[in-house]
Amino acid sequence: MKPLLPELERRRAAHLYRRRRVIAGAGGVTPVVEGRPMLAFCSNDYLGLANHPDVVRAFRAGAARWGVGSGAAHLVTGHTAAHLALEEALAAFTGRPRALLFSTGYMANQGVVTALVGRGDRVFGDRLNHASLIDAAVLSRARFQRYPHADARALERLLAAGGKGEALVASDGVFSMDGDRAPLTELAAVCRRHGAWLMVDDAHGLGVLGEKGGGSLEAEGLDAEAVPVLMGTLGKALGTFGAFVAGSEALIETLIQQARSYIYTTALPAALAEATRASLHLVQTEPWRRERLKAWVARFRAGAAQLGLPLMASDTPIQPLLAGTPGRAMAWAAALEQRGILVTPIRPPTVPEGSARLRITLSAAHTEAQVDRLLQALEEAVA
Ligand SMILES: *Cc1c(COP(=O)(O)O)cnc(C)c1O
Repeated sequence: MKPLLPELERRRAAHLYRRRRVIAGAGGVTPVVEGRPMLAFCSNDYLGLANHPDVVRAFRAGAARWGVGSGAAHLVTGHTAAHLALEEALAAFTGRPRALLFSTGYMANQGVVTALVGRGDRVFGDRLNHASLIDAAVLSRARFQRYPHADARALERLLAAGGKGEALVASDGVFSMDGDRAPLTELAAVCRRHGAWLMVDDAHGLGVLGEKGGGSLEAEGLDAEAVPVLMGTLGKALGTFGAFVAGSEALIETLIQQARSYIYTTALPAALAEATRASLHLVQTEPWRRERLKAWVARFRAGAAQLGLPLMASDTPIQPLLAGTPGRAMAWAAALEQRGILVTPIRPPTVPEGSARLRITLSAAHTEAQVDRLLQALEEAVA
């Protein structure tokens, strides 16, 4: 057994050590962190639904009706009418024939990629894809090639180089650490020309982008023919937990038969499905949340530009400030923390070397005054 402490020490010295913070209670954007009230700009609860009374009420009622644990996998006795009702609601929301629930987005990506490609096939991914898509590609045993970020022409060259078997292209819709969007229309055209599957992981687009909150695909006007595989998560804008894949009848049936991360795991609690149905209803009936979020993004960007802050190019609620070194990102975060503001520094290997950053996220749950407080603190701590 090798000793583990030297590697931990090396990480600490390189400003790469990670630690967890203990949050007391459901504070939304104003959590109590280790005894101290903070203003947070780092959650993915973009629409402010995680603590919404309707969602909490549906969760309680669901637990009263269904109990807490589902007790088994979907293919045994874990699949309830509550799960089915949510799958039908998600299919209708995404305009696809069917949707299939997964316990997490990480598992959904793993299930889809390993079900669709294997040894002898090819899988392509954007260089900045989420870790779960990268791990899924490696696990699939297909030949895995990464193309330069958001570069549909580079992808086309790789596809044109040929190969046997199936080809699957997977991309984040909105890149989780950068906030920019994939060139989905171009990717769809390239995939169509080369007969490749296109899979979009819209963890950060769903609920946020598109007039109806349909996400990156609604925003770009892409249908299920252009993007046959859509993965969405429920733990971000929808404010609950879990994930789903939406697509054709044949795709969903294939996943039920073959996606190991679907088959060999306990079904989500039914109460969670009920809570998610309540939050999906709010996503669809309260467009003001998206409008407000858009207004905060615009206000933040205008203010940050005025201060000359190193903003990255993004029009989504993910608004990273580029620090470069991990030490600098840590120092900025510490200076903000002193001013009562919580933003997590993101460092390699989550992002490429030399691009450590503060990943600032905005939420409809913030107020205008809170956005201004963030700008004020950044002026003192970073500018
Ligand atoms: C968060 C995230 C996931 C993982 O989803 P979980 O439900 O948290 O496991 C997958 N892809 C992207 C792009 C994400 O941001």
